[in-house]
Amino acid sequence: MRGATFPEGRGEMETPMPNTISNKDRMKLPRQHMPERDAGVRARCFEEVNLGFDPALAKDEALRCLACAKPTCTKGCPVAVKVKDFVALIIEGDYLGAAAKIREDNVLPAITGRVCPQEDQCEGDCVIAKKVDSVAIGHLERFVADYERRTGQIGIPKNAPSTGKRVAIVGSGPAGLSAAGDLIQRGHEVRVFEALHELGGVLVYGIPEFRLPKDIVRQEVDVLRRMGVQFETNVVVGKTVTVDELLGEEGYDALFIATGAGLPQFLNVPGEHLNGVYSANEFLTRVNLMRAYRFPEVDQPVYDCAGKDVVVVGGGNTAMDAVRTSLRLGARNAYLVYRRGEEEMPARAEEVKHAKEEGVQFRMLTNPVEMIGDARGWVTGVRCVNMELGEPGDDGRRRPIAIRGSEHVIDASVVIVAAGTSANPMIQSSTPDLATTKKNYIQADPETLATSKKGVFAGGDIVTGGATVILAMGAGRKAARAIDAYLNSDC
Ligand SMILES: Cc1cc2nc3c(=O)[nH]c(=O)nc-3n(C[C@H](O)[C@H](O)[C@H](O)COP(=O)(O)OP(=O)(O)OC[C@H]3O[C@@H](n4cnc5c(N)ncnc54)[C@H](O)[C@@H]3O)c2cc1C
Repeated sequence: MRGATFPEGRGEMETPMPNTISNKDRMKLPRQHMPERDAGVRARCFEEVNLGFDPALAKDEALRCLACAKPTCTKGCPVAVKVKDFVALIIEGDYLGAAAKIREDNVLPAITGRVCPQEDQCEGDCVIAKKVDSVAIGHLERFVADYERRTGQIGIPKNAPSTGKRVAIVGSGPAGLSAAGDLIQRGHEVRVFEALHELGGVLVYGIPEFRLPKDIVRQEVDVLRRMGVQFETNVVVGKTVTVDELLGEEGYDALFIATGAGLPQFLNVPGEHLNGVYSANEFLTRVNLMRAYRFPEVDQPVYDCAGKDVVVVGGGNTAMDAVRTSLRLGARNAYLVYRRGEEEMPARAEEVKHAKEEGVQFRMLTNPVEMIGDARGWVTGVRCVNMELGEPGDDGRRRPIAIRGSEHVIDASVVIVAAGTSANPMIQSSTPDLATTKKNYIQADPETLATSKKGVFAGGDIVTGGATVILAMGAGRKAARAIDAYLNSDC
């Protein structure tokens, strides 16, 4: 029996053998905490914040799972990962087996283990969460995926014999990658077309290095490549080649559109055109894809934040990523301005906690009404009003109402607007017979993700609007099943 040091005051004690622990005693085991890089250090570098479990922590956490007969955690996962089975393999010390078990349903475990909002999904549905902290399923998933990666023993699933059918996937975000993984395993030829020069969608251009190291995304993409998926970058479908050309002279039998919702929205307040005002997507794309996180080795392709005051407007994950990135680029003051209260913020709780620890200054119930500039056209500040929350609106959320006479200015040399995004438009505008919604999202059947155009399927953010990585992956899997059925029919 192994002796282990437990954080959170458990002290030095023996870890009991799994089959000797009653469910009652399992529920007494405290949730293990993810070790983190020191807030003062990490706020000034792009190294990953979370450091991952070691085998001892992973086992201690895995022992908290009750192995329910009807696991609600799996129901809570949009791709239905067999949580209880992979957790049992961790207890046995079979980490590669655990990783392989996850890969049966999820082709990107090292990514989802890092960025999934588990608190609203598998962990939110964990049975013990009704009484104590849920099992840290995301941390366990990350642990086995990292183990597999570190040991270089990634289990490549076997593909079915070739069907001779060809599928084109447009967009290499989580929806496209997940569909590619499932379709190649079903024996179809798969080629992914990506507009950017890097593969991964938001995983590479949006989510910063300190939350999701890009090498991890590249490695997961490489697994797909080794499975036989072909990738072509710098191809803007709708411009370089059209959907009709792919289905016509290019000879594809089916097409999956997974182009995401990356078109930035603005506040539409005066002064938004000033130099130094960015959309969060542009700011993050510049830092991530042009590798500004390796400054000074690589030039900063953004206005210098060092020693400056930076205001980020918004309350979601994107705002949190932008404001924490500005700190790491040397901002003197990094303000997060949000028109509702902290409780209403859509960002993940962990990101909010990390941002606060790193020194981000939260200005809640504050709404920008104007960007102020100097004579040369550079932004110098944001005029804001204080807000209070009124009655709930149609969406059930309490409406923010401006408080008279509360106008004030926050000095800023850089302003980043993270006010949401909308559909990437290129394919819709070049494919007239593709039905879209009023907001230009692609219409798809909720069960099959089939669009109005024969042989064309669509899923992920381009159908739902901005959502989550795992929901996009779930859509990719759903589309793969429907495309497979379509290809096996007479088409
Ligand atoms: C900054 C930020 C942080 C986020 N943080 C989280 C998080 O922590 N957890 C979480 O679960 N979710 C998070 N999200 C949301 C999540 O990343 C998205 O919901 C998810 O990536 C959507 O996947 P997708 O495959 O539908 O689209 P995307 O990831 O947007 O990928 C679409 C791809 O299609 C390409 N493309 C677009 N048009 C064309 C074209 N015409 N031709 C060829 N290629 C094209 C794009 O370049 C892109 O690579 C975050 C989003 C952002 C912006």
